[in-house]
Amino acid sequence: MTGPRCRRKHRPSGRQGQSGARASKHPTPETGWTARRGSVAAGGGTEGQDLPSQFKLRNPAAPAGDFVQLPVPIIQQLYHWDCGLACSRMVLRYLGQLDDSEFESALRELRLTKSIWTIDLAYLMRHFGVRHRFCTQTLGVDKGYKNQSFYRKHFDTEETRVNQLFAQAKACKVLVEKCTVSVQDIQAHLAQGHVAIVLVNSGVLHCDLCSSPVKYCCFAPSGHRCFCRTPDYQGHFIVLRGYNRATGCIFYNNPAYADRMCSTSLSNFEEARTSYGTDEDILFVYLDS
Ligand SMILES: [Zn+2]
Repeated sequence: MTGPRCRRKHRPSGRQGQSGARASKHPTPETGWTARRGSVAAGGGTEGQDLPSQFKLRNPAAPAGDFVQLPVPIIQQLYHWDCGLACSRMVLRYLGQLDDSEFESALRELRLTKSIWTIDLAYLMRHFGVRHRFCTQTLGVDKGYKNQSFYRKHFDTEETRVNQLFAQAKACKVLVEKCTVSVQDIQAHLAQGHVAIVLVNSGVLHCDLCSSPVKYCCFAPSGHRCFCRTPDYQGHFIVLRGYNRATGCIFYNNPAYADRMCSTSLSNFEEARTSYGTDEDILFVYLDS
């Protein structure tokens, strides 16, 4: 569980990521990526020729399942705290189940506030009748996080609320399990055309396509550089949408951005999602919902 009030390290696109070089390395769905539903997808078209090698066309001889790129639409978060909701919207739209007014009323019914935990997202999937499986290392709130700056605010009230959600999960048909998930499990899931929302430490996750991001500060006027020390943990949700086995990359949508798919090495991804503070939360979502 665990979750963010996502203190996004990335400002919404427009402030950062506007340089042509960076944008061109991130083909938009219109220019670069082609992906077909139902698992294995071909790589980019001719427009993709200036792509880094790992994004070029899949070798036709490569076995199916070695390259997966699912057409998960990109939806940007609106505030600093709603990355989890943006991820849920991306997933629901991918499943063809996103209706904006229904989504808004779901948020009201579930009484979601600005503090969104992974368990809240699992309830949201359940609300829409979406088949899901939430894997975590801690079934409830980890007391150890109490003094982490990211979690400190309102820890006690949130602890009660979140622990209740865990306690009621089974009765509410929300599937939660304490389990360890391997990269192979994740790849097998994606290869079936399914997707996943993952809680990561955004201070650790580094996209290979975005050039090293300028750090902005929540407290500085917009566009001003931040010279604060990076906090140890910044919870952030992303949506997984594929991988390239040959190059060892994983593809994801980062809701901080409106215009790109991101990619990182499996090792960086593993470090970011198993970082202290995440509880290794991963919400598997199934296409056949
Ligand atoms: Zn990126």
